[in-house]
This record gives sequence, C-alpha cells and structure tokens, in this order.
Amino acid sequence: MAIYANLSKALTQVWNPKKTRNAGGLWQKCPECGEVIHNLELGKNLKVCPKCDHHFTLSAAERIHNLLDPDSFEEFDANLISKDVLKFTGVLPIRIVSKAIRRRPE
Ligand SMILES: [Zn+2]
Repeated sequence: MAIYANLSKALTQVWNPKKTRNAGGLWQKCPECGEVIHNLELGKNLKVCPKCDHHFTLSAAERIHNLLDPDSFEEFDANLISKDVLKFTGVLPIRIVSKAIRRRPE
C-alpha cells in the first residue's frame, strides 16, 4: 500500500502544485522537522534545512543557478518535449503527466 501512497503524493504534486509549493511567501516550513525558515536563509543554504538537513525540492532553474557560473548557461531546444515511445501504461498515461509537468510554474 505504501507504493500507492507515494504515487498519490507524487500525483498530487503534479496536479496541485500550489498545494505543495510555496505560493510566494517569505517563510517555508520544513516538512521533516517543522522548522519555519526564511526564504533568504533557505536560499543561502541551497534549500537545505539548517536544523535537520532536509533537502527541499529544487526547480530546474535553481539547480542550474547553483551549479553553473553566472550568465554561462545557454538553453537549447526549450520547446523540446518527450515522447512516449514505450507506450508506458501506468496509473496515468505518460502524455498526461508530461503535459501537467510542462504547465507547472517554476
Ligand atoms: Zn528541517
């Protein structure tokens, strides 16, 4: 049953990003230890909780910003999308999940 709970949580994040993401507030609550952390402190700590070392989710832009030199990243093929060549049959077709992920705000 744990696999269904994890799948349900993952799909909730895909379908309801506002419920699981910070909506632009100044503070975030660590889901692991409950510590309330200011976004500036969290950013300086590369989105790792200073109390329990929980790693918050990084967006693609945040990951690129953390890894590369400033202004050194040049994106190619931004409109490229994946295809379901294996015809994956999960709880939801991959084309629906992929479409939902593309519509997600950064
Ligand atoms: Zn924590």
